[in-house]
Amino acid sequence: MSRVVVVGAGIGGLAAAALLGSAGHSVTVLEAQDHPGGKSRRIERDGQRMDTGPSLFTFPAVWDELLRRIDARGTDAGFDARRTAGLELERLEEVGTYYYRGQECSLPVPPGHPWHAAWERFAAQHGGLGSDVARLLTTGPLDSASRPALVKLAGLYGPRLTTRSYLDSLRWLPEGLREVIAIHTLNAGVSPTRTPALYASMPAVMAEDGVWVPKGGIYELVEALQRLAIAGGVEIRTGEPVTRIRAHSVTTAQGTYPADAVVSGLDAHRLGALLSGRVPRLPRKLTCSAIGVYAVLNRELPAGTPRHGVLLPDDPQGLYSSLEANREPQQTMIFANYYPAGQVYPNDSGTLALLLTAPPNGRTYVLEDPFVMREFDRVTRVLGLPEPLAAYFSSFEILDPGYFSEAGSAGGALYGAVHPSWMSGPFHAPAHTSPLRPWLWRVGASVHPGGGLPAVLGGAMMSTEKLLHHLAGVRG
Ligand SMILES: Cc1cc2nc3c(=O)[nH]c(=O)nc-3n(C[C@H](O)[C@H](O)[C@H](O)COP(=O)(O)OP(=O)(O)OC[C@H]3O[C@@H](n4cnc5c(N)ncnc54)[C@H](O)[C@@H]3O)c2cc1C
Repeated sequence: MSRVVVVGAGIGGLAAAALLGSAGHSVTVLEAQDHPGGKSRRIERDGQRMDTGPSLFTFPAVWDELLRRIDARGTDAGFDARRTAGLELERLEEVGTYYYRGQECSLPVPPGHPWHAAWERFAAQHGGLGSDVARLLTTGPLDSASRPALVKLAGLYGPRLTTRSYLDSLRWLPEGLREVIAIHTLNAGVSPTRTPALYASMPAVMAEDGVWVPKGGIYELVEALQRLAIAGGVEIRTGEPVTRIRAHSVTTAQGTYPADAVVSGLDAHRLGALLSGRVPRLPRKLTCSAIGVYAVLNRELPAGTPRHGVLLPDDPQGLYSSLEANREPQQTMIFANYYPAGQVYPNDSGTLALLLTAPPNGRTYVLEDPFVMREFDRVTRVLGLPEPLAAYFSSFEILDPGYFSEAGSAGGALYGAVHPSWMSGPFHAPAHTSPLRPWLWRVGASVHPGGGLPAVLGGAMMSTEKLLHHLAGVRG
């Protein structure tokens, strides 16, 4: 049995801890904040639950694979991973309802809509790629088991390497549908010129395999990972920020923890500071941030308001350029996640989460900020609300780039630094450790950029698998 210290109890750190604990190692997780989950957090306003940070769960096959690996390792621990996790996923009826320059469509595009035929053609080519992407997300591109998936994907995209160049080559796609598909790359924090062509396929895969929310809210994923970790004997210590990481030891205000291996679930920049004791230079370009407005509603929104609405800017290119230049755009991409009372959360009032894509400027925002007010007016207009949006709020909380920078990346960038397109997604096998520091292993969004929860979970599986081999070698 080896001693492993995991720094950071975000989704990446918790997943690594659960895997290492189930394999029989002695694992301690050290988390700076008073709650686990990192960017995923649960808040309460007026006695109503709202989960902040991530909201949607995709690629459920990645979650299934995590449970399978815990079961495969943890037979001695005597628990069934799925039952212990207790996570119940509910599929949304659609990927979302999209609004672009006066047009409205849901994905999958329904019959009768002018984009339907083009969507059907696109979905027929891309919708079936879910298992290939899940394979790459959980085993990595260098594993021989990934070869068939790589060959299939390379054949589909050919020399069109980025999402933008690939989508622009599909001349038969209506311009509006092309922009709806392209804007999904902002979920990876960057514009379609900065992601591999594979990202073009994601909306079709999501339409085929589903977009999911855990019953009770997305924070149930954090609770599930915690349950799995604890069942594997992991100790989770919150409110204990790590102040220094050295070879084979981790220091906090409470003391020094010796470790055969250290797993970092931190943003790369933050990790650099803890290793060197100095604040390293900021990355030149950062991925986008967000302004999240989480509101309890004093009455339900009008019938027909979608559960997951996505408002595109009239000028997507203008938005991408503004984000690159770390400037507020004229209009941004907005997610509007509306859960009526009793849906998803056990609440007796409806809730609305508005996520405004924002530059990584580290700023604090209030509702009266001109950018926020302008975009609120647009939401009111586009959703056809009879009263201004804020009139429906009984209470709310704002999480902004300033908030996301506190425990995450500089400026509140959701995925840290911008990487070349081939490094932003599952075609790239990141260095989980380095020969200079073979005792240090990395997991989390800044080492597996661009894919949100599935990339973080899959990355933790890949990194931990290698670490387990390493520990077996050291012991053996
Ligand atoms: C607004 C928003 C919306 C999103 N929407 C989605 C979505 O719908 N679907 C999706 O799949 N993904 C989404 N994502 C992305 C997803 O939330 C992240 O990719 C994921 O949560 C990152 O997890 P992580 O473990 O890498 O990092 P983090 O969550 O950042 O965890 C790092 C942890 O390290 C801790 N820490 C930092 N410094 C120290 C220290 N010195 N000592 C100890 N601990 C420390 C932090 O407190 C934190 O708990 C969204 C993100 C945001 C912010």
